[in-house]
Amino acid sequence: MSKRKPFIAGNWKMYKTCPEAVETAKKLVRILHGIDHVDVMIAPSFTALASVYEVIKDSSVMIGAQNLFWEKEGAYTGEISPGMIVSSGCRYVIIGHSERRQYFGETDLSVNKKIRAAIKNSLAPVFCIGETEKERDAEDTFNILDKQIKMGLEGFSPDDLQHMILAYEPVWAIGTGKTATSVQAQEVHRFLRNLIENLFGKRIAGSIRILYGGSVKPENIGELMSMPDIDGALVGGASLDAEKFAGIINFKI
Ligand code: PEP
Repeated sequence: MSKRKPFIAGNWKMYKTCPEAVETAKKLVRILHGIDHVDVMIAPSFTALASVYEVIKDSSVMIGAQNLFWEKEGAYTGEISPGMIVSSGCRYVIIGHSERRQYFGETDLSVNKKIRAAIKNSLAPVFCIGETEKERDAEDTFNILDKQIKMGLEGFSPDDLQHMILAYEPVWAIGTGKTATSVQAQEVHRFLRNLIENLFGKRIAGSIRILYGGSVKPENIGELMSMPDIDGALVGGASLDAEKFAGIINFKI
């Protein structure tokens, strides 16, 4: 089991209108009342952030955004700045999710700029990395992760990464029902912690929380959380239902 406080995040992707998001957040706050053994974050769509914040602000649930654009303001139609996200009550922002890399052309370079902008605005990045099925089959997993980490975090100091959360999400496990086994995930998490230690030192490597993401459900969270380098989960589908998500948060090892 991990030595760090578990962190469980729900990525609501492009699901739920604003009233639906508010309804789910209300249920979650009710079910999770008094919970403090886990940090819980939900990431609704941009249009629901401010309304969901009103629901969770006096509870232990926190909110984050699913993306940002790095400029402060300007003629960037359709984009959302870090300041806008902060003013909606967010403390976190998911960056580099594989769906953004796959469908919206995000690269390690744009991810780097986004992480920089998040940190500058006191938003903790939830930095997502992961290999595709093809890359895993070609035994390229560790090379891919090495590149994603080195490029995504190029130019940062250990202090910059103090509040950052890393999310290992094998692309082949996202939304597919295929979960990495706890042994497969632990192997990668250990590799990532060693890499962080080599790049940024022991202190950050010891404190950084590394989440696993990819078809996490109430039935498999306990086994994943029993591993020493798995500090929590980034949950997609199973976070959309408050009771199911609470079943993950209340995991038993
Ligand atoms: C995700 O969106 O980050 C994710 C892991 O999705 P799912 O849990 O549905 O696989």
